[in-house]
Amino acid sequence: VIRIHNMSGWIMWTVNGIFEDIGTVQDGIETISKPLTVVDRDGAQPLQVTQGEVRFENVHFHYGKDAGLIADLDLQVKPGEKIGLVGPSGAGKSTLMNILLRLYDLEGGRIAVDGQDIAGVTQESLRSQIGVVTQDTSLLHRSIRDNLLYGRPGASDEEMLEAVRKARADEFIPELVDGEGRVGYEALVGERGVKLSGGQRQRVAIARVLLKNAPILILDEATSALDSEAEAAIQESLETLMAGKTVIAIAHRLSTIARMDRLVVMDKGRIIETGTHEQLIARDGLYARLWKRQTGGFVGVEA
Ligand code: ADP
Ligand code: MG
Repeated sequence: VIRIHNMSGWIMWTVNGIFEDIGTVQDGIETISKPLTVVDRDGAQPLQVTQGEVRFENVHFHYGKDAGLIADLDLQVKPGEKIGLVGPSGAGKSTLMNILLRLYDLEGGRIAVDGQDIAGVTQESLRSQIGVVTQDTSLLHRSIRDNLLYGRPGASDEEMLEAVRKARADEFIPELVDGEGRVGYEALVGERGVKLSGGQRQRVAIARVLLKNAPILILDEATSALDSEAEAAIQESLETLMAGKTVIAIAHRLSTIARMDRLVVMDKGRIIETGTHEQLIARDGLYARLWKRQTGGFVGVEA
């Protein structure tokens, strides 16, 4: 077991002081980073994903001693269902995804995937079944290739290159050169290596999640750092990726998620509305207000 400090793992987009970076080298790829408080239970079994159902049952959680952040939350995501999670900044959307990944343990209730309480399965198996792209993806201080293969170390070069193409990351990866002259896929990421822009990091993260091809997907502002041209180009790949998978997508730009099977609106750690775009517009509540604010009153969604 090696310890690497000051290196952010991809799963910990929530950068804060309570994480410690711990890497165990397996096939040259690190599995890293979990909050210190979360440990596998004795006898924890690997999660078996059969359908991809995700259930939050009477969930209670908060980070610190103050605010009850997630309270009394119930949500059932059906196998293969695509949920758009909506709400003002600070509503608890990313927190809900953090606890689904079990980056933190709950104070009450449970989260189950296909009937298995995630607190009782191994963390490694849980995270291996969930693909994550967030707004601020941290990459490993390793080569671009290692970063791409992180979710699936056994992937072939062909598979890797296909994912890179679909994520439009082929536009910049071959041009990369790090401080020690390593180029392209071998270039080292990080302090003494290549520094990627937010949009480039996001494209690497999308390529990684395409390659990982996990049955459950979390897209938390997954395309927020991209310009609209790159976003439109990648959207198609993401839609292909989402087919047949259970998806929870968060996007500030509501037009990118309005077409999901169901929208779930959060405010102050609670779910306050759910329904389709049309239902929520008709309801004329928080979603309708947010939508009208973004579109200047226009209520339709482009097909
Ligand atoms: P959203 O994604 O809906 O914008 P978040 O889930 O990120 O909201 O945040 C919900 C609340 O929890 C906010 O008040 C935020 O400041 C707080 N928060 C988020 N992450 C942490 C953390 N790691 N430690 C303490 N508080 C946090
Ligand atoms: Mg968030």
